[in-house]
Amino acid sequence: YEFTADDLTDLGEIGRGNYGSVNKMMHQKSGTIMAVKRILSNVDEREQKELIELAVVMRSTNCVNIIQFFGAIFKDGDCWICMELMDSSLDKFYKFVYGVMKSEIPEEILGKIAVATLNALSYLKSSLNIIHRDVKPSNILLDRKGNIKLCDFGISGRLIDSIARTNVGCRPYMAPERIDPTKAQQYDIRADVWSLGITLMELALGEFPYPIQEWDNVFKQLSQVVEGEAPRLHRDKHPRFSDEFISLLKEVPKRPKYKDLMIHQFIKNAQEAPTDTRAYVESVLAKMDEMGIPGIP
Ligand code: ADP
Ligand code: MG
Repeated sequence: YEFTADDLTDLGEIGRGNYGSVNKMMHQKSGTIMAVKRILSNVDEREQKELIELAVVMRSTNCVNIIQFFGAIFKDGDCWICMELMDSSLDKFYKFVYGVMKSEIPEEILGKIAVATLNALSYLKSSLNIIHRDVKPSNILLDRKGNIKLCDFGISGRLIDSIARTNVGCRPYMAPERIDPTKAQQYDIRADVWSLGITLMELALGEFPYPIQEWDNVFKQLSQVVEGEAPRLHRDKHPRFSDEFISLLKEVPKRPKYKDLMIHQFIKNAQEAPTDTRAYVESVLAKMDEMGIPGIP
């Protein structure tokens, strides 16, 4: 359905990112609750056009691992992206599991997250020819039913890259070839594979896999990604992980194609495993509720 900003009632802020805030809102006529991301920069005309096209395409996607999209609204030069509201995002989820529960996300759950994200990325690429460009824990969302869905794709790459390059607080999930353009004439789909690897490692370790405290400026931070070795798991340092999981993460710096990752033993095992994602996610979210820590505020 078509609607404008006036049709929505604001129910409060959910979170804040590099380019604006995300609010819970209700579409009055239908009673639909949604998450509305407001990009508070002047979206230029070309970006507006891109976003409207994306909104039209996204309304008809049917991939269980992609967030449902209700549309894009433009208001006073800002862009509002209206999407399905989920119960939590993986950044908040893992920080709670490791930091508060003093527990770990089981490898079988990491497997389901990897399968879901790969599934979403390869669907975006093969069906819509969209590169995500911003794969990271906060862009992988969860709900109590155990669904795992990717969000925040297709927002102008130019916008994301320029914000990421100038924002000190932004952690570099970006592949080296995106930070240093001399490393590659253009980046392609496989830069997302790098970010997926960094993301999986962060979820597995409970912390960002680069030693950020040693980074006192953006230049050092970015040059470590470009010059340094790709972070990886080591058998002796990380005994809880299977050889298959360690091997998957070792493949990432080689930028395998999705079809090759899909047949990696770790992914194949995870696809077939009878893991009860719903029970696990529900139990963690229930503990968050108990402690008054919202999955999302
Ligand atoms: P970032 O992804 O960089 O954290 P965003 O502005 O994209 O910044 O999102 C801010 C926060 O809002 C996210 O960390 C996430 O927890 C939450 N969020 C975003 N989209 C949704 C959604 N559709 N449902 C629930 N929570 C969301
Ligand atoms: Mg996001």
